[in-house]
Amino acid sequence: MAVMSRNFGEFDFSDPKKAAELVKKQALAFGADAVGIGSIDRWNTAPLQMDPKQIMPECKSIIGMVFRVERGSLRGVEEGTYFSNYSAMGYGGITYLYMPMTVINLAKFIEDQGHEAVPYGHQSDWRGIDGVGKLWPKYSRPTRPGQAYPDVMIQLRIAAYLCGLGEIGYSKMFLSPQFGPRNRVGIILTDVELEPDPIYDGPQLCNKCMACVRACPGHCIPADKTIKVNLAGHEVEWADVNMDGCDMTFRGAQMTEKPEKDPYMEEFPNSKPGSWSPFYHKPRNLYNTGQAVCGARGCTRACMISLEARGVLQNKFKQKFRRRPEWSVDWSVEDKGPESDASTSKSKVD
Ligand code: SF4
Ligand code: SF4
Repeated sequence: MAVMSRNFGEFDFSDPKKAAELVKKQALAFGADAVGIGSIDRWNTAPLQMDPKQIMPECKSIIGMVFRVERGSLRGVEEGTYFSNYSAMGYGGITYLYMPMTVINLAKFIEDQGHEAVPYGHQSDWRGIDGVGKLWPKYSRPTRPGQAYPDVMIQLRIAAYLCGLGEIGYSKMFLSPQFGPRNRVGIILTDVELEPDPIYDGPQLCNKCMACVRACPGHCIPADKTIKVNLAGHEVEWADVNMDGCDMTFRGAQMTEKPEKDPYMEEFPNSKPGSWSPFYHKPRNLYNTGQAVCGARGCTRACMISLEARGVLQNKFKQKFRRRPEWSVDWSVEDKGPESDASTSKSKVD
């Protein structure tokens, strides 16, 4: 039997409308939950370090894909009994396993037709800028005068917005009409012209209910400090989120004034477990970075509950998400261990 390979040049991409339709159908077939397209001119005002044209100067279109975080991945955190699932299956597993496969498969489909395609997910570990957009000192150098410092980092949540996939909420999280804040995003840069989708103008998702502000355990989402940006001619506003605060809080750490005898995170002596973490010490990372012990208490869970209650999301559930009062760990009280707890001792005997 002769060698078999893929069918190159099977589809004609000369008509942007037909090509866009084909690409979107393939994206869904490969595992994306939603797909939209943005024309490259929408990134005309992007800062140099975040400009897709710095990666692919001939880029004409960006394909944005939404990958849902299962609501069930947040169940164990909500119940206070099973935390690793959100960090592994809802975060690292999607970001580093599932999403790249879909993005790579779609990029291969586009390259089969003779157009270059850059598969882009969460490869931000090598980026030249920090969380607030400043260049890391003595990290990298431009390879040609006037070019960006390696690595350029495309903002995925802004890309999702510019591909017409949804809104950016007050919490700074990307909100899709299907899943609200339960998304991860992957994109493809390509030199083929694809018919763009309009910027999202569907039912209003974020209504500034401020549930995210109230529920963030580290008070990282301010109610009165915002950032306004212009994205492809649209004014978008979100909270000036304290990213350093979130960085510690989401891992379950509460900062203290004095160093702790037995800190929650070894590398931060002034840390202890917050009331939103049941762990004495931060558990180890899963899939490279997955370590969201706070279970996105404010920016995802509270927001999702609010959006579901308003009935604005397409992915509807038979039962509401929050079924019991929220838990909180009182670290000032000593845990006497399983022997003192009748229910756990019993299960031990069983
Ligand atoms: S919780 Fe409310 S204010 Fe915050 S992002 Fe969601 S909808 Fe917007
Ligand atoms: S991830 Fe956690 S700490 Fe960070 S903003 Fe969301 S709720 Fe707050």
